[in-house]
Amino acid sequence: MIPSRDQRERSNLFFDNRNAAGTSTQPRPASLACYPRNISAMAWFSREKSGADSSDAEKTVRTEGLWHKCEGCGQIVWKKDIDKSGQVCPKCEHHFRIDARERLKMLFDDGVYEEQDSTLTSTDPLQFSDSKPYSERLAAMQKATNMSDALISGVGKLEGRRVNICAMELKFVGGSMGSVVGEKITRAVERSLNRRVPLIVVSASGGARMQEGAVSLMQMAKISSALMRLDEAKLPFISVLTDPTTGGVTASFAMLGDLNIAEPGAQIGFAGPRIIEQTIRQKLPQGFQTSEFLLEHGFLDAVVKRNELKAYIAQSLHFFCGA
Ligand SMILES: [Zn+2]
Repeated sequence: MIPSRDQRERSNLFFDNRNAAGTSTQPRPASLACYPRNISAMAWFSREKSGADSSDAEKTVRTEGLWHKCEGCGQIVWKKDIDKSGQVCPKCEHHFRIDARERLKMLFDDGVYEEQDSTLTSTDPLQFSDSKPYSERLAAMQKATNMSDALISGVGKLEGRRVNICAMELKFVGGSMGSVVGEKITRAVERSLNRRVPLIVVSASGGARMQEGAVSLMQMAKISSALMRLDEAKLPFISVLTDPTTGGVTASFAMLGDLNIAEPGAQIGFAGPRIIEQTIRQKLPQGFQTSEFLLEHGFLDAVVKRNELKAYIAQSLHFFCGA
């Protein structure tokens, strides 16, 4: 995206290197064609090292975070435009990752919900330690994310219908599923059973939590058997898979929905593509493990854009439960 003259002036992007001669013979990307030749593209959206004089420091602060380079189309996009469209690139519809709280706000009516089981924390059952003790890692994560573990469980309304929604948080130890994630989902299932309301789980996960060993693997069976009870009670479970959903999460509840739907371009799989290639000694097809590929091969029921997700779920629930 080429920003308007107004936008460029507002964000003071072009003060550096204005007088230096542009002698480079390298071809320039089309998106940079109207800018001074030797300006650093990186300076638009990341903080430069300090050491500049005070006026430079001021410019850096002013420009930081105004622009974002889209991973999908490589274009530089006005950050406010991305915010306005629910963290989706307005140019190429690339879906940026969003955190669990933002996800719940998007799905619940008026962003209002009641958080459940927010005080559950892992007891570090194996007293595990790798590069640092697991307990320390957990404490650091809890402080950084202001969450007790990698999932938020909420109760509220979606287009007027009472629902339970759980959203996983990728920033918390890679969204890994340990005893707490397993217990929170299981309790959400039980709440759904008790009150006869649908359950929606939004996954974003690197898989099982290695630091909890077999305890984390056990969660796959625990959640799956709880979901079986939901199925027997004829209550709907909708699984939403977002980028990335992998490992033990894909291998259990994420693929057990009455509807399994994914966001466009999400990576969904069990093992990563490099591991698979090394194991089977074959090149994998283009787009392998993307939601579109999985839809084409029958692993998903639908790929739904983020801005249509809430309406899609509401319509599905209407179909499952009636008015
Ligand atoms: Zn884009």
